[in-house]
Amino acid sequence: MDHGEFRVKAKELVDFIADYLENVGEFRVYPEVQPGYLHKRLPTEAPHLPEKWDEIFQDVQEHIMPGIVHWQSPHMHAYFPALTSYPSIMGEMLSSALNVLCFTWASSPAGTELETIAMNWLGKLLGLPECFLNEKNDSPGGGVIQTTASEATLVSLLAARTKALIELAKLNPELQSSELLGHLICYCSDQAHSSVEKAGLIGLVRMRYIESDEKQCMRGAQLEEAIITDKAKGLVPFWVCATLGTTGSVAFDNLREIGEVCEKHSAWLHVDAAYAGSAFICPEYRHWLDGIELADSFAFNPSKWLMVNFDCTAMWVKDSTALHRTFNVNPIYLRHENSGKAIDYMVGTQTANTKRRIIKSHEFDNGDLYAGENVDDENLHGYNKMASGCGQQIQIENPNKKELLHWQIPLSRRFRALKLWFVLRNYGVIGLQKHIRESVRLAQKFEALVLADQRFEVPQTRNLGMVAFRLKGDNTLTELLLKRLNGRGYIHAVPACFKGIYVIRFTVTSQRTTNQTILDDWNEIKTVASEILVDIFG
Ligand code: PLP
Repeated sequence: MDHGEFRVKAKELVDFIADYLENVGEFRVYPEVQPGYLHKRLPTEAPHLPEKWDEIFQDVQEHIMPGIVHWQSPHMHAYFPALTSYPSIMGEMLSSALNVLCFTWASSPAGTELETIAMNWLGKLLGLPECFLNEKNDSPGGGVIQTTASEATLVSLLAARTKALIELAKLNPELQSSELLGHLICYCSDQAHSSVEKAGLIGLVRMRYIESDEKQCMRGAQLEEAIITDKAKGLVPFWVCATLGTTGSVAFDNLREIGEVCEKHSAWLHVDAAYAGSAFICPEYRHWLDGIELADSFAFNPSKWLMVNFDCTAMWVKDSTALHRTFNVNPIYLRHENSGKAIDYMVGTQTANTKRRIIKSHEFDNGDLYAGENVDDENLHGYNKMASGCGQQIQIENPNKKELLHWQIPLSRRFRALKLWFVLRNYGVIGLQKHIRESVRLAQKFEALVLADQRFEVPQTRNLGMVAFRLKGDNTLTELLLKRLNGRGYIHAVPACFKGIYVIRFTVTSQRTTNQTILDDWNEIKTVASEILVDIFG
C-alpha cells in the first residue's frame, strides 16, 4: 500500500468506522458463531503473493464482523464498560502512525512529558492527594500509564515485595532472599479480582483472603485480626490490596480502616479501582476515596468507563523509589544526556560515579552498598532483574542517590498518553462527568424497573452503573434466564455469585445507551423470564 492508496482506503475505513459506531445498536450484541468458525473460513497459510486491500477488507466484512461481540452496543451489559470514543480513536490513529516507543525521555520527549502532564491532570481530576502527582521533578510520587489493572497490581506487589525483602534482609542477615520470601504474606478481600490472586502467584508470595462483610466490603478489624495472627506465626505482612468497586457487585472496601491498619503494620496499600475509579471525577462519589492518602499506590482503567480505548490503566504511586528498586536496569544503550531532567518511564538514569551492584541479601546492611559483586553497567543486561527477590539476588541502590527510574515491566511502551489527552480535552471535565452521571442515572432507572416487578430482586445495594439482579427463588431460574437471554443475543450480560447467590450483572456500559434502550432491554428480560416461569411452573 503506497501513500496514495492509503489516503483513499484509510478515508473509506474512517467512514466504515463512523457507520459502524453510529449503527452499532442494530447488531445482535453477541455473535451467532461457534468455536472454530473462522478456522473453517480462512486459509491455513499466509498468502505468498501480495493481496489487494479491497479483497482483504471484504474478508473483514464477510468473516471477521460476524464473529464480533459488539462491546460498544447500547445493549451490551456484560462485564464492565470497555468504551472507545472518537477522540480516543484519533489518538490511537496518530499514535499508530508515529509509532514512537516512550521508554525514555530521549526515545520520545513529547510522549514522555505528555504522559506526566496527562497523568497529573487526571490525578487532580480524581482529587488524588498531591503526594501522588509529579509536578516537580524531584517529587517521589507520580503517575504512569500501565497496560492493564492486572499489571498495575503486579507492579505494586513486586515493588512492595522488594521493599519488604530489603527490610527483612537487614533484620535477618544470615538468610538468603529465597528463604526471606517464604516469610512474606499479603492480603486482599474474598471479593478481589482474580488478577490479585495472579499477582501473588507470579510474585511467589502467600495471599490471605479476608472475608468480606454482608455488603461485600473488606473491613479493617478483619484485616487486622488476620495480620496479628500471621505475625504471631512469624510471617511478615507486606502488601494489602483494597478494591474500590469489586467486579462481582461494585462493593467498596473501607479504605480508611484498611489504610490505618496498613500504616500500623507497615504494609504497602494498593488500591484497585479498575472500574469505579472513573466515577471519582465526580465529587459526589469521592467519599469512597476517604483514606486515599494512606495508600501507597492507586490504579484505575480509563479504558473501561472513561472512553479511552483499551489499553490504558492509570496508576499512581506515592513513592516511585520502590518501583525503581524493583525494576532496576541500566544498560548503556538506553542512557541519554538529559537523564534525570524528566521522567524515563522504563529505564534507569544514573549520576556519574554511582556504581551499581548486584549483591546477595545477606551482604546488605543499613540501606547502603557494601561488599558484593560489582557489575559493570554494560554487562548488566544479561541478568534477570525481574526475578530479583525470588532468585538469589536483590539489587539495592543507595537510597541517598535518587537516580534510578523504572515504572513498569516491559521496556517498550506505546504513546498512550495521546489518546488520554485527546479525550480529556475533547470532552472536558464537564463532558466526562456528564457521561458518568448518565450511566449511573440509567442504572438507577433499570434498578427501579426490576424492583417494581415482584418476581425479581436486587440482593445487593446498587452502586454506580451496575445492577446485580435475579429471579426470586432457586439459582437455577436465574441461570436459565441468563442462558436464554444470551442465546437470543439481543442483550448480553454475565453472571456473578456472591455467598452462594447467583445474580445477573447488568452494567450500563455504552454512551449510546438511552432511556429507550433500558426500557427495551427490560422488556426483553421480562419476556424471557415469563417464558421460563411458564415452562417451569406452568
Ligand atoms: N480489578 C477489577 C476490580 C476488575 O473489575 C478488573 C476487570 O474487570 C480487573 C482488576 C482486571 O482489569 P484488567 O483487564 O485491566 O487487568
